[in-house]
Amino acid sequence: MSLDNRPVYTGGCQCGRVRFRVEGALGDASVCHCRMCQKASGNFYLPLVSVRGARLDWTRGEPKRFRSSSAAWRGFCAECGTPLTFEAPDGIALAIAAFDDPAGIAPTIQWGVEAKLPYVDSIPKLPSEETMGDVSSAPYLAELVSYQHPDHDTDHWDTDQWPPEEKP
Ligand SMILES: [Zn+2]
Ligand SMILES: [Zn+2]
Repeated sequence: MSLDNRPVYTGGCQCGRVRFRVEGALGDASVCHCRMCQKASGNFYLPLVSVRGARLDWTRGEPKRFRSSSAAWRGFCAECGTPLTFEAPDGIALAIAAFDDPAGIAPTIQWGVEAKLPYVDSIPKLPSEETMGDVSSAPYLAELVSYQHPDHDTDHWDTDQWPPEEKP
């Protein structure tokens, strides 16, 4: 919460070179199955939440943008590629999973269903395993070191080096 009790949300890209802060109520949360959102996210569909009615600040760096149509730009981290924004004349939407705490931002509608991939609806029925369920066939998982930026703001930032420790 901010000083005047408006909700505050933070987030950013995987490498941490781009970070954002949203102050105020989030708008509609959705997923879009359209072919452009598939490409822009490299994924089956793109979950987005509108920040049209809130204040958005880029607190570290700023996305690079690709103009995907005459009406819209797609923002992403130029260093690590994380999709971050959909920017149209009527406002900006942010990628839900780029928020530090995406669990509370539940989509309420699906768009672009004419392009929905045929297997998307059957994914929840697939066999399920936790990450470490595969450790015998992928022993590197046991010693894995994450270089992903943590899910909170950081101040020890060096534009040339993230994370601060040397990578092997
Ligand atoms: Zn990044
Ligand atoms: Zn779309």
